[in-house]
Amino acid sequence: MNPTSVTILGSGTCVPSLKRSACAVLIKIGATKLLFDSGPGTMHRLLEAGIEIFDVDFIFYSHFHPDHTAELVPFIFATKYPDSNKRNALLTIGAGNGFRHFFNGLKAVYGEYVELPEGMMRIVELDNNGPDSRQFASFMVETLPMKHRQESIGYRITDSDGKSIVYSGDTDATENLVSLAAGADLLICESAMPDALKTPGHLTPSLAGDMAARAKVKKLVLTHLYPECDQVDLTAQCRRTYAGPLLIAEDLMRIEV
Ligand SMILES: [Zn+2]
Ligand SMILES: [Zn+2]
Repeated sequence: MNPTSVTILGSGTCVPSLKRSACAVLIKIGATKLLFDSGPGTMHRLLEAGIEIFDVDFIFYSHFHPDHTAELVPFIFATKYPDSNKRNALLTIGAGNGFRHFFNGLKAVYGEYVELPEGMMRIVELDNNGPDSRQFASFMVETLPMKHRQESIGYRITDSDGKSIVYSGDTDATENLVSLAAGADLLICESAMPDALKTPGHLTPSLAGDMAARAKVKKLVLTHLYPECDQVDLTAQCRRTYAGPLLIAEDLMRIEV
């Protein structure tokens, strides 16, 4: 089996950028493809990474802000396009409690444009108030609430070899992230703003580093980078708190775990 790998599809935010597309991360576990968040531009970046929408088996949402969810509608609509309807595997969408309500809102607007044939799509809601977990064929998912929106959850994915990847989604500093990421092989962590521009509900390089250091993760990737981040030395700021292996995300960066 191929080693589990991560591709950062979008390292950016809601701010339009040719360099940093909105939030999306692809994790490949063997033949299984997991998409984490789908901000605007995700399908384009998937194609650049050599992945068609029909290849995606799971989409997990950290929360419902448009820079993390907006491509869901065109993703499902494109899946329905008759001449390219090549999906023959179930699409599972996982998210915190409230996703069904969110999705029903999309259905109220878009109707059948966002409905797949019976048995082609399932929704799995995860607890947004405490720990939750699910075992799937090739991986386990564990979640904890994050500090951003009511529905926010962070994800820990563990493959059958025991390799673990944690995705924070958007969050402020929280002990839940430290415990979710404990000993993880890779932490993909938001670091929305530089240290000097700390914003409520988000982390900075040194705060993300502090979470990673206390969780003793084996590698840290900083992502969800607003344009302000590209004007400072993110590595130096993160080094104030974290000494381990460190990457600053770029679109289409691939990491083997
Ligand atoms: Zn957000
Ligand atoms: Zn965001």
